[in-house]
Amino acid sequence: MALPASIAEQLRAILGPEGFLDAPEDLRAFAYDLFANHQPDAVALPESVEQVSAVMRLCNQNKIPVYPRGSGTSLAGSPVPVLGGLVLCSSRMNKVLEVSVTDRLARVQSGCVTGDLQKAAAAQGLMYPPNPTSMLYSTIGGNVSTNAGGASGAKYGVTRDYLLGLTAILPNGDVVKMGNRCQKDVTGFDLPRLICGSEGLLAFIAEVTVKLIPLPEGIRTALAYFSDVTEAGSVVTDIVSHRILPCTLELMDRVFLNTVAEVYGVPCPEGAGAALLIEVDGPDMVLDGQMETIERICREHRAVGIQLARSEEERDVLWKARRGGTAALVRKADMLVTLDYAVPISLLPRALGMMEALAAEHGCNVVTIAHAADGNLHPMVLYSPSDPAQDAAFRAFADASARAIVELGGTVSGEHGIGLEKKEYMPLQLGDEQMRIMRGICRLFDPYGIMNPGKLER
Ligand SMILES: Cc1cc2nc3c(=O)[nH]c(=O)nc-3n(C[C@H](O)[C@H](O)[C@H](O)COP(=O)(O)OP(=O)(O)OC[C@H]3O[C@@H](n4cnc5c(N)ncnc54)[C@H](O)[C@@H]3O)c2cc1C
Repeated sequence: MALPASIAEQLRAILGPEGFLDAPEDLRAFAYDLFANHQPDAVALPESVEQVSAVMRLCNQNKIPVYPRGSGTSLAGSPVPVLGGLVLCSSRMNKVLEVSVTDRLARVQSGCVTGDLQKAAAAQGLMYPPNPTSMLYSTIGGNVSTNAGGASGAKYGVTRDYLLGLTAILPNGDVVKMGNRCQKDVTGFDLPRLICGSEGLLAFIAEVTVKLIPLPEGIRTALAYFSDVTEAGSVVTDIVSHRILPCTLELMDRVFLNTVAEVYGVPCPEGAGAALLIEVDGPDMVLDGQMETIERICREHRAVGIQLARSEEERDVLWKARRGGTAALVRKADMLVTLDYAVPISLLPRALGMMEALAAEHGCNVVTIAHAADGNLHPMVLYSPSDPAQDAAFRAFADASARAIVELGGTVSGEHGIGLEKKEYMPLQLGDEQMRIMRGICRLFDPYGIMNPGKLER
């Protein structure tokens, strides 16, 4: 459904012809993420805080749904405009505004791609650690809104751990600067962190200030193969119990490895049913000793192969399996849904075993990878939604696995967010009181419920 002509005209006047889209082919391009698809009535591509503020005020006055969007790499349906309305996309607000070595921070517009921020920081010898696998495409605004994690989460933390401040535009158009440039600040409630993880339900984020840390001196990388995922999961708990905190500990299962071998020609040793990509970083003088301990632990768990990288090129080869895996899997089925659970680290081997058992019970084709050092596992379901039996098997697996994870004391989302995919399971984990508080917070920010409607029931 198109927006009323007078509203479309006002939006075009605010945003200019480049900043307002309503042609069918443009609407299609902003309709989807990797989980769901629904066309908006129009798309706004603002270039400034003033434009965002004017757009929000107009939509609020006319109760038009607003769907904030970064790059649309969400895997949970979070930015999808399920009730139509306006997609408000940050892609033209994509600049790195400042990197300060002395204040150890960077200031960026919300549409800045995460990888661009990392490059700008690295050019000054600094590091922005949160590294979602999508970092070459996803935006900082999207990362803040989903509190994105990544491979280095166990060692370095996630997006919220680096968030110093942000500029939020409220639905009524008010521009509110939250937080500041201080590395320490306990004045008042931590509002930037309230916005962090709120999935576009409270405000549009226009600008973000993040903390930076010095780049580590060195890094060592190994790829080790094991007979199955439970054995690989036990290696993870053993490494962590030795008080070594790898910056990468990525677990891949048999189907993942076989698919990568088939599509990219990356060989996999005989008898390998799982692999761990392991990296430690820090001062060079400690890294070799840590890698020796890790190698010994791997051998104690009967590793069927261990490869070590001796150069940046060799490191790229070892990463190839993990980086290219999802793209390789996408070719194997009509649909790939990446589920996202996290459990206490000690329970990871049990959770991995549970996923295998549930997949077998429901006759579902499930491939599992994990950011294993922080207990975050991603069962990826390959199926054809147009086949009723496969569709039913997917739904049964998704339901049973979410309930089992909550029962185990885990969480239904470790990093991807709730969106449409997990909205049914959030109350199961959080209970009535926490849901009531969250709904109240939504009403405070957004009395008319225009922000990302159709996700959290308000
Ligand atoms: C191959 C692949 C690998 C991935 N790996 C990881 C991973 O390792 N770790 C991880 O955490 N995630 C991962 N993701 C998921 C996804 O990349 C993250 O959730 C990311 O943070 C989304 O950023 P985006 O810019 O694409 O946001 P979008 O997908 O556009 O939006 C995500 C949410 O943020 C809101 N939003 C976006 N911009 C704003 C803004 N300016 N103001 C207010 N709200 C906003 C949207 O409304 C929506 O609710 C992966 C995705 C893919 C496709």
